Amino acid sequence: MARRGTRATREPSPGVMDQAAIRRHNLSVVLRHLRDHGPCSRAQLAVATGLTKTGVAKIVDDLIDRGLIQDLGIVSAPRVGRPASMLEVDGAALACVGAEVNLYHAATLVTDLVGRELFRARRAMDGRQAPPQVLAAVRGLLDQSLQAATEACRAIGSITVTLPGLVNPAAGVVVNSPSLGWRDVPLRAEIARLLGVGPAQVAVDSIANLAALAESRLPEHQGVRSLVRLELGAGIGAGHVVDGRLQRGAGGSAGAIGHVMVDPRGPMCRCGRTGCLDAFAGLTALLRAAAPDLLESRSDDPVEQLGEVGRRAARGERRALAGIGEVGTWVGRGAATLINLQDPEVLVLGGYVKSLQPWILPAIERELELRVFAPDRAGCQVSVSPLGPDGALAGAVQLGRDRVLEDLTADSGGWGGQRAAGD
Ligand SMILES: [Zn+2]
Repeated sequence: MARRGTRATREPSPGVMDQAAIRRHNLSVVLRHLRDHGPCSRAQLAVATGLTKTGVAKIVDDLIDRGLIQDLGIVSAPRVGRPASMLEVDGAALACVGAEVNLYHAATLVTDLVGRELFRARRAMDGRQAPPQVLAAVRGLLDQSLQAATEACRAIGSITVTLPGLVNPAAGVVVNSPSLGWRDVPLRAEIARLLGVGPAQVAVDSIANLAALAESRLPEHQGVRSLVRLELGAGIGAGHVVDGRLQRGAGGSAGAIGHVMVDPRGPMCRCGRTGCLDAFAGLTALLRAAAPDLLESRSDDPVEQLGEVGRRAARGERRALAGIGEVGTWVGRGAATLINLQDPEVLVLGGYVKSLQPWILPAIERELELRVFAPDRAGCQVSVSPLGPDGALAGAVQLGRDRVLEDLTADSGGWGGQRAAGD
């Protein structure tokens, strides 16, 4: 059975989809089905997508012409019916590049069209510099990634950059990243110019959104229709995925839970307002409450800092335990607000909760019991994210693959593919 939202379209709804859009949609449905369930025969594709056999045959021919799928021939005879040749997505057709720019590091990940990892790299970097300096520092990583991509694949399908803060994905602009100190940075255009690619190939989105997308694609969340992920790190934000798609709001600013005011008399937030959740439960607030000496220490690596906070809590140090509990209370209030507003099936707690789980979770749970309005916590399943620090990077590549598969324009062949040198 095809999953919800993957059926092909036979008849246009008047005024909703024109012929080109229907064709593009059907190409994308067939390609996605092959990616997720391939290899398949043409007959199996027809059953799964609801298209006619003739329709499937035409679409398959088109996809083979574009070099996106390959005909494997008759792999093994089926138990019933005539032997049929099998089709699969040609992973080497397109590469997807993801890049993360963060406070203390930059990282990249490259996969092929079916998600096989081709390249991964990470380097320490000060993300709080001005955008041109940061881009100059990231340039080497991006060049290495593009080289790995073009060596393994015939074209680069997408380059997706993620960073903490508020991003307008449609405009490709970083609207406000308090963590990096960036405002109104046209990052998509800058990256496209830096790498000499078309802006349409580049996408920019927030870490909160892309980590939520990665979370929603984990096997344990298969079949979950509505998932919210709360990112708790240098900044706080939430991503909401419904039926496999990110809900970004009208201008991309949905999920800014970190800057919801929780106490009008609270401390100044990095955004310039007072009393935001971020000022009570961001990483700096956590360190201030649980291990203030670490704010003065030479290492500003959050992984090391959290490791030390965890060690102190495990030893039963009173300051660490009290600080973690206090911050957990604020996190629980934020999480309860998300459940009250979004009513998700699943709420995932990301970021530092994983490292501090035994000590922070009781305080979060207590607030959820107190503050979720609907009975039985709105039936929401709350869990701790298993994703490591590269979760958003995985989401960046997944979003890139989604974009490539959705952007198969039947007439122009404009799936954003940049021909690799020598191809
Ligand atoms: Zn704020």
